[in-house]
Amino acid sequence: MTKINGFTRTCGLLGNPVEHTLSPVIHNFLARETGENLVYVPFLVPSGMAGDAVRGAYALNLKGLNVTVPYKTQVIPFLKELDGLAEQIGAVNTLVRCEGGFKGYNTDMPGLYRAMCRDGVKIEGEKVLILGAGGVARAVAMLLAEKGAGRIVILNRTKEHGEEIARTVNGYMGKDMVFAMGLSDYRSLPGDERYLCIQATNVGMYPKNGQAVIEAEDFYRRVHTGYDLIFNPAVTRFMELTKAAGGKAYNGSRMLLYQGIIAYELWTGIQIGEELADKAFEKMMEAMNQ
Ligand code: NAP
Repeated sequence: MTKINGFTRTCGLLGNPVEHTLSPVIHNFLARETGENLVYVPFLVPSGMAGDAVRGAYALNLKGLNVTVPYKTQVIPFLKELDGLAEQIGAVNTLVRCEGGFKGYNTDMPGLYRAMCRDGVKIEGEKVLILGAGGVARAVAMLLAEKGAGRIVILNRTKEHGEEIARTVNGYMGKDMVFAMGLSDYRSLPGDERYLCIQATNVGMYPKNGQAVIEAEDFYRRVHTGYDLIFNPAVTRFMELTKAAGGKAYNGSRMLLYQGIIAYELWTGIQIGEELADKAFEKMMEAMNQ
């Protein structure tokens, strides 16, 4: 534990609920290891009080904040500045103290990118399937397009939500590279090539373990690598089905780690190397398994 004295600075998490967060484990470990006089605590914010929480945090000299459900979009009107990527995504998960308030960032996508690099998952030139068309899937589609993925196909229960993302990303990229289909339309995917598949729905997330948004075995024969953004449970049904069909499978725990590490880097200006990142990952996994 960092020695708390008159110089100690505070960072924290705004959300509701916040009781099961792993962020204090990551940030308090990094503060200790990098010798920063900083503590990180969860703040449970009542419904409708996001603006009060941001103003109060500034008044109390907080150095930075993470923001989680349901406030990732709600806090934006109360920020002094907004980073370009966060503006494009329309959601923030990290606030950094600046002159007169906080600047909002989104570290989820750079976090996912660093996690995929660390896990050795290649994006460039890959044909990709994205399951889901919610807030995260939208940002994932943009990230993959920018990082040089080949064709991207969004499979979603509500096809229109996927079509809307495809329009946005194709418009931004200036070419048609994202296509939308309904969930069961995977059977009409061209050829017999195999895909990198990002699972970005909340189906299978704790406490609904044991469910996958697509159960059919023939779907998983089209997947060479399955990347589930869910981190609890550590092995999802999607991952089990991917592995059973001969693919590699990863969960969202390294994305969770790196979104936190990037936030910590923004707050402190300290770059976290891979050795320390791996140690923080071990701490996070220990806490997750308790
Ligand atoms: P969201 O905006 O609520 O979107 C949910 C998506 O799941 C929608 O496309 C929805 O389809 C689909 N869906 C939900 N229930 C379904 C069902 N029963 N059958 C078929 N489709 C269903 O959620 P989000 O914010 O994008 O989050 C998505 C996932 O990312 C969550 O599992 C979250 O845990 C994960 N995540 C992970 C990290 C990390 O650090 N690892 C960070 C952020 C988020 P419709 O469009 O048809 O409604």
